[in-house]
Amino acid sequence: MYTYGPVPSRRLGKSIGVSPIPSKTCSYSCVYCQLGRTTNFTIDRASFFDPNTILTELNRRIENSEPDFITFVGDGEPTLCKELGWMLEQCKQRFDTPTAVITNGSLIYRDDVKKELQNADLILPSIDAGTEETFKKINRPHKNLNFEEIISGIIDFSKIFEGKLWTETMLVKGYNDSKDELQNIKSIIDKINPDKTFIMAPTRPPAEDVTSPEPELYLYAQKLINQAKTITNLEKGDFEISNYKDAREAIMELSSRHPLRKEQAQWIAKQFGQQQAIRKSVQNGELIVKKYAGTKYVLPGKLFNR
Ligand code: SF4
Repeated sequence: MYTYGPVPSRRLGKSIGVSPIPSKTCSYSCVYCQLGRTTNFTIDRASFFDPNTILTELNRRIENSEPDFITFVGDGEPTLCKELGWMLEQCKQRFDTPTAVITNGSLIYRDDVKKELQNADLILPSIDAGTEETFKKINRPHKNLNFEEIISGIIDFSKIFEGKLWTETMLVKGYNDSKDELQNIKSIIDKINPDKTFIMAPTRPPAEDVTSPEPELYLYAQKLINQAKTITNLEKGDFEISNYKDAREAIMELSSRHPLRKEQAQWIAKQFGQQQAIRKSVQNGELIVKKYAGTKYVLPGKLFNR
């Protein structure tokens, strides 16, 4: 499947996710990535799947729901998909729902990506670092990417983009949580002048052993970076599951795309009347249960066994 949801999103309300690229195809390999280390490390844009098939699936999904956003997010970096601009344009023509692109921002310096993203209503680029040194530590970018070029690209784009732009900064303990680094991040965000700024915490279990900074640091960051909103809470709301044939399929699919707390997986299993589904998948290794920051999540075993 290329689409999923609607799922509850902490920033976007009820969101249908569209993944136009294969799993873990990315230009970064962030230490906090919930999908594990990048296996297809690339900065080359390509055609991965038939975009018409993606839109047909999206069409079916949207007919049965009333999402707040269609979100191109991918199991990696969505701007690597060559047909992203075309699909955004098609969404505008076919649906009333606004579109969002959650991107690491690494390819926005390219003219073709800048042009294609113009078709979206909302762009959410990541700004996790204020210096090249931190960028390399936290985002672990492809070797041919240049920090200054990426930041200039996002600043340039922010000046011409007619939709809304929200930046996202994931704070990770020991990586980008020093006061100097936050000051550098603030300087970049000031130049971008986004419509909203989010400071995030890795509330979902990352494949690597990283944690969030202390709560006081979020308060500090919030004050420092003008009007930043801190997102450290867990999302609320139900998942749309009518497109799945059984509990196993729904839980496997959703947990590979979106963090799924154990209680949410249990709710899904109950809707199908298949309360044993989680236990069976854990027994055969398809799923694991992992506790992170005091909350239990179910995750596809393959993400944590490679
Ligand atoms: S940019 Fe996103 S998908 Fe890529 S490694 Fe970072 S968190 Fe994972």
